[in-house]
Amino acid sequence: MMEIIQLPVLSDNYIYIVTCEETGMTGVVDPASADPVIAYLMAKEKKLDCIFNTHHHEDHTGGNARLQEHYPDCEIVAPASEKSRIPDIDIPVKDGDTVRLGVCIAKVIEVPGHTTGHVIYWFEKQNALFCGDSLFSLGCGRMFEGTPEQMWDSLKKIRALPDETHVYCAHEYTLDNAKFAQTVEKTNPLLKSYLGKIEKMRAKNQPTVPSVLAIEKSINPFLRCDHPDVKKGIGMADAAPEEVFAEIRRRKDNF
Ligand SMILES: [Zn+2]
Repeated sequence: MMEIIQLPVLSDNYIYIVTCEETGMTGVVDPASADPVIAYLMAKEKKLDCIFNTHHHEDHTGGNARLQEHYPDCEIVAPASEKSRIPDIDIPVKDGDTVRLGVCIAKVIEVPGHTTGHVIYWFEKQNALFCGDSLFSLGCGRMFEGTPEQMWDSLKKIRALPDETHVYCAHEYTLDNAKFAQTVEKTNPLLKSYLGKIEKMRAKNQPTVPSVLAIEKSINPFLRCDHPDVKKGIGMADAAPEEVFAEIRRRKDNF
């Protein structure tokens, strides 16, 4: 079993502290900053064994150096192809690799688009996907370094994972994303009811993350660029999915 603790930091980031319950090994995913992680671990009398970075952005790696200073045995697991942009990687990973946290095993999947080397960590047995800024609940990351073709391919890799996968993304953007999604698929009844649900959650300041992949597959427009309702919804019924993706991404950037 794996324990997953969600720490909200900065304005809308989530850091995840993950512990293999069999061995007590503890890791942290995308530490935007070190202080909240250290405070949590000290309170729980745990030490840190590893850091998992999904990509090089500062709000995902900003805590690396101080955490490693504080926990000298802690190893940094991060994408090999972002080696020049993430200092001091101990375990560089690429597509198809597996990494371990105690007896919990994650598969590394490369999902370029937001950045060229973005990876996600899929703990298959635990149904947990740490996807950084590649996929958000009802949205996806901005396409800073990739092409629409690349990013659509990446999203298809995520879509191919099992429905019951819990999606631990790195930001609380769901409400905004849902409002945008409604402009794409006005008649999706599931989307409408989900929007109502997350409005209530956010009003109480509750996290809407993690999401479940089955929900994302049915209402996240960025995972549905080949769906007739989405294509029709933006007036591109005959376009290729990557063209539809490019258009939806462009509209969201200006939303
Ligand atoms: Zn990012």
